[in-house]
Amino acid sequence: MLECGAADFGLQLSFDQVEKLALYAKELKKWNRKINLTAIKSDEDIVIKHFVDSLVLAKFVKADAMLVDIGSGAGFPCIPLKIIMPALRVTSVDAVEKKIIFQRNVARLIGLAGFEAVHGRAEQLQPDNKADAVVSRAFSDILTFAGMAKGLMKPEGMIIAMKGKEGREEAEHAKGKLEQMGLTVSAVEEFRLPSIGDARSLVFIRSKTG
Ligand code: SAM
Repeated sequence: MLECGAADFGLQLSFDQVEKLALYAKELKKWNRKINLTAIKSDEDIVIKHFVDSLVLAKFVKADAMLVDIGSGAGFPCIPLKIIMPALRVTSVDAVEKKIIFQRNVARLIGLAGFEAVHGRAEQLQPDNKADAVVSRAFSDILTFAGMAKGLMKPEGMIIAMKGKEGREEAEHAKGKLEQMGLTVSAVEEFRLPSIGDARSLVFIRSKTG
């Protein structure tokens, strides 16, 4: 299911990547029995709603990008992405410590180098290096997210808000305020998740001067 789902978006997964994602799913289910990491619990939902949904970003982020994931929860989208794009340099931020401890455990088990999980609020993040891409999924409204992400990205970097079907309409409403912040919506990509057909959208935001 995972390989077919990824192939729908032109992504060929290696045996090693599938093994790592399977290990991640196993850990997620194990930890979820004790602590509440995610409401998505069945194998099919983990594969489609968490893994494939996260992997779609691989089409839009360059292989060795510096990526910040804000409000990453149990590691989405950053961990699946890092598994299939090993040269990515990832900073994953979440305000809930147990989620970050879980992510560090997964990173150690899988052997993810260049992956840092940071416990704290994104507003307080002061990275040494600016990001090529700042992403979030199911995190906040576009304006709040863009306000946090702006200071974390390179002038030519991009902000990617992973949304449901409401993405285009929300982006349209946010446009004016984004412009006042020196930002602009550069694209909205819409797609459906394989097998279940749920609508998703990616809202791309860039600096007006970048
Ligand atoms: N991105 C993950 C996903 O798609 O499964 C998790 C989404 S969850 C709905 C939102 C996450 O944002 C939570 O894990 C929460 O702890 C985190 N969060 C909320 N406000 C935050 C903040 N200001 N800084 C960092 N993390 C925050």
